[in-house]
Amino acid sequence: MSNKSSLPITLRQVTKRYGAAYALDHVDLDIRSGEFLTLLGPSGSGKTTLLTVLAGFTRPDSGSLKFGETEVICMPPQKRDVGMVFQNYALFPHMTVAGNVGFPLRLRGVKREDIARRVEHALEMVRLGGYGGRGVHQLSGGQCQRVALARAMVFEPRIMLMDEPLSALDKQLREHMQIELRQLHDKLGMTTVYVTHDQREALTMSDRIAVINGGRIVQLDTPRALYERPANRFVAEFIGESSFVPVAVREGSVVLGGAALATSAHPGQDGPRLLMLRPERLKILSAGAVPGMNILNARVQATVYQGDSSLVQAVLADGSVVSVRGASGSNAGHACPAAGDSVTLGLAVDDTVLLPQDSAT
Ligand code: ADP
Ligand code: MG
Repeated sequence: MSNKSSLPITLRQVTKRYGAAYALDHVDLDIRSGEFLTLLGPSGSGKTTLLTVLAGFTRPDSGSLKFGETEVICMPPQKRDVGMVFQNYALFPHMTVAGNVGFPLRLRGVKREDIARRVEHALEMVRLGGYGGRGVHQLSGGQCQRVALARAMVFEPRIMLMDEPLSALDKQLREHMQIELRQLHDKLGMTTVYVTHDQREALTMSDRIAVINGGRIVQLDTPRALYERPANRFVAEFIGESSFVPVAVREGSVVLGGAALATSAHPGQDGPRLLMLRPERLKILSAGAVPGMNILNARVQATVYQGDSSLVQAVLADGSVVSVRGASGSNAGHACPAAGDSVTLGLAVDDTVLLPQDSAT
């Protein structure tokens, strides 16, 4: 559909305050040409503010914003060549599907016969070919969201912005649309900035994820790097589940209670740290030592059956409580331990991840 090239986006020290509070606090961000980048963060962290700065609806107090080589901070929204999709799709209820999708083209003074052709093409892209004559009220939620998407794509923007576009849909449709949106992006190749507070959605869809908190980018990385090597406790807690156990680095070794733990990363300077333990990375071992694994002795506090898996809560020698996820069915391979049992937990050296103790971010 698009024969224009996509554009990289560069933010430098972008700041927006409401009263004394920073909605965006000196944000530096480099979005690559054609990439699918997700802004992930809790409610109120500044995601929508950042997206509306990109769209041109919010004027930052200071900073620089470039699309390619062009400074756009003073450029009005309609000149920015940006498509935008919102959570509540905001379709015009009195217009047909084709009327909605063609709206941005009419705004831009495109000729009638060209509009009809481009509208139908955009509808085909979102798998709604032939739906142009329908009323918006005749569509399901997922179809409405696709119409909103077609409307954002129809003028072939080089940048696409999406603010929680799937959050009004039920879980099944949401998961289906996640895959569809990603495939559409891969076909069209426009630089896409996607906003969500749903970590699984971010992991599923993104080339890279910018975790945002309190108006600051806390970490920018691939889904795998964020999950496997979070920069701090906030990111580790926001993406996936984890337990945290205080440990110390002494003369280059990691010490938990009295025992030394092996890590594949350099543990850095001596001092206190947090050991991050993902429930699915801890293994309940039936026999003693296993090569490549650290061993933690624990006592089971409770076991919870959760359908697709079981969650075991166990207490380490130092009193820290950790969660261990195991198989729940006949393939469990071991009897599920009961409260009071002693267990040996295995943690792969590569999964032994230390975080700064001070998690203030
Ligand atoms: P998110 O989209 O991550 O939930 P927002 O970008 O909407 O967060 O908001 C970030 C912060 O800025 C919040 O504290 C919010 O209350 C504040 N904020 C956003 N828009 C306005 C506004 N128009 N007036 C005052 N405060 C605002
Ligand atoms: Mg928002």
